[in-house]
Amino acid sequence: MVIRQAVSLLAKLLSDAGTADADFDARQIISEVSGKKLPFEELSDEQYALCLDMAKRRAKGEPLQYILGSWDFYGRTFSVGEGVLIPRPETEQLCALAIEHLKKTGGKAIDLCSGSGCIAVTVALETGLFVSGIELSDKAYGYFVRNISRNNANSLVEAINADIFDEAVISRFADGSLSAVLSNPPYICSADMKTLQREVQHEPRLALFGGEDGLDYYKRMLPLWVKKLSVNGLFAVEIGEEQGAAVEEIFRSVSLSPVTVKDYSGHDRIVFAIKQ
Ligand code: GLN
Repeated sequence: MVIRQAVSLLAKLLSDAGTADADFDARQIISEVSGKKLPFEELSDEQYALCLDMAKRRAKGEPLQYILGSWDFYGRTFSVGEGVLIPRPETEQLCALAIEHLKKTGGKAIDLCSGSGCIAVTVALETGLFVSGIELSDKAYGYFVRNISRNNANSLVEAINADIFDEAVISRFADGSLSAVLSNPPYICSADMKTLQREVQHEPRLALFGGEDGLDYYKRMLPLWVKKLSVNGLFAVEIGEEQGAAVEEIFRSVSLSPVTVKDYSGHDRIVFAIKQ
């Protein structure tokens, strides 16, 4: 079958199932399987069968990113699949902020709740500085480790399989030793967990749910990890769009002076502070 024809068949299957970007998703699946051939080139029967299987998974609501097995973030490719949060474009902004800061200060950084490792790997490779990342879930940690190798960041990124609230791992970092503490923790509140988009429901609850008000991780993380920052160090977290004021308050409770930054859709998305 010619690729162009396969695209229209799969796009129809997807749009009939109510998939929002049916044409885009069909093209992504086909280019993944065919190795990016041109629209008028042939797809073998085996290749088409594989594409069809993937399209059927997509039609059932599985995220395109899991089906493809990888997704781009900040110009690099990260392995993803069931059990790990898919890197989001909003999180690139957190990286940009950290990179700008770290290029001025130098030093080491940490990324808490690393997931795929997209923040740790990006910040390390863009600055040439050492970044440690802590991830609790075994499955996500597996992706983190793979993504470090995949992006040739072995000498700059350390992946730690642990709980960010565990004293044993916290004590591995000396007080005042870090130039940045970064995190995109789980921050979805109980009410919003009930109305998650179909695709997001496939992502790990551990990476999404931040307790009743979605703020559990910030409340526990800030007091424990702020001590690890050096003077002029950056604490920066991603937040849910309605959490700006509440997270600023948590920053103030540990004597940081917070600033909230909006994402490109105009929603509050990052809170950061420089330790004085
Ligand atoms: N940005 C994700 C979402 O809105 C949430 C990720 C998180 O909780 N850190 O689906």
